[in-house]
Amino acid sequence: MPGYFAKNEQHRRLVLKALLWITLSGGLFFSVVNLLHDNWLLAALEIAYAAVSLYLLTIIERTRDLQLLTAVYLLPFFSIMMVALGQTHTTFAVFAWIQSIPIICYMLLGLRLGMYGSILFVGIGLFVFSRRFSSESLLQNVEIIANLGLASLAVMIFAHIYERSRILNERRLTEQATTDALTGLPNRLKLTEVFERERAHALRSGTPLALVFLDIDHFKQINDRFGHEVGDRALTHFATVLAQRLRFNDLFCRLGGEEFAVLLPGSTAGQARDIADSLRARLAAEPLRVDGDALSMTLSAGVSSFRVDGQSLDELMLAADRRTYAAKRAGRNRVISREDLGETSPAPG
Ligand code: GH3
Ligand code: MG
Ligand code: MG
Repeated sequence: MPGYFAKNEQHRRLVLKALLWITLSGGLFFSVVNLLHDNWLLAALEIAYAAVSLYLLTIIERTRDLQLLTAVYLLPFFSIMMVALGQTHTTFAVFAWIQSIPIICYMLLGLRLGMYGSILFVGIGLFVFSRRFSSESLLQNVEIIANLGLASLAVMIFAHIYERSRILNERRLTEQATTDALTGLPNRLKLTEVFERERAHALRSGTPLALVFLDIDHFKQINDRFGHEVGDRALTHFATVLAQRLRFNDLFCRLGGEEFAVLLPGSTAGQARDIADSLRARLAAEPLRVDGDALSMTLSAGVSSFRVDGQSLDELMLAADRRTYAAKRAGRNRVISREDLGETSPAPG
């Protein structure tokens, strides 16, 4: 699922697109209105802005830096809004736009920038308003500003809460989608994502990257003898024992069933083989306790390495899987790497 974990910006792209259409049509409409009012400055700004909106609409689908595009769009948008608010020719109704600032900011810029943008532009808007529409009575002035300010604050708080819970939900769902429910280990989807990152790093820095495929030996017998529930406990036990041996940077994941994998950034095939063998020894030395009895478990593993066995995760998985199968045929409870099978490494380049 390429791009699954790419920063989820699709909803922002849609919101920006909708806003661009609104400013394009609104800009054209109000430029005509302002021309009829002889307000040349505002009319010119609006026509220019409609042109900018049209241009951005043509590039929005292919832009990579959506945040930059949004900033390029919003800064003049809010600035023109402030100029319009400050002009004596414009109507009182233009202040309705102040209410839209927090929603636009939060939906397009996210939590932090959304908050700064909202406070800044709502603040300026209220200041301009208080200068333009001050009445004789101080009390009445305070009342008007308090009404506008509180309404904007309410919209800002709602937008903040909404955006925050959206981010938390997105994080929770991503976490769930990339975690194995039984063992709590990362799953295959997470491996795909981390592999792409580590692959790019290995290519940039020339460092090694290895993959170990692990398969529990005779696991079906555990299920058959003790039942599925003990089988599940055996899988969790396996995950706990092996995870203790690995480094923070290693990615230990459950591929499915009784098959697991470890991605080892910075490890050569030889180092990965040693790590896999220490995992094997550790598992053999730590049996699962079932009703006071010790149930020993063993694993078979195959090692593959980046560049030597291929450049893609599929190629590395295939090679490691093939070697695991060779380990099974050779009697199980062992680790097999390319060298063990007498396979020669391809010539560099
Ligand atoms: P080998 O040594 O050749 O790997 O034999 P094996 O018995 O480990 O392999 P096989 O593929 O024959 O059996 C795997 C078993 O794992 C079959 C399936 O019922 C069991 N299994 C798969 N997922 C789970 C699970 O989530 N929980 C439990 N308890 N069993 C599972
Ligand atoms: Mg298997
Ligand atoms: Mg097995």
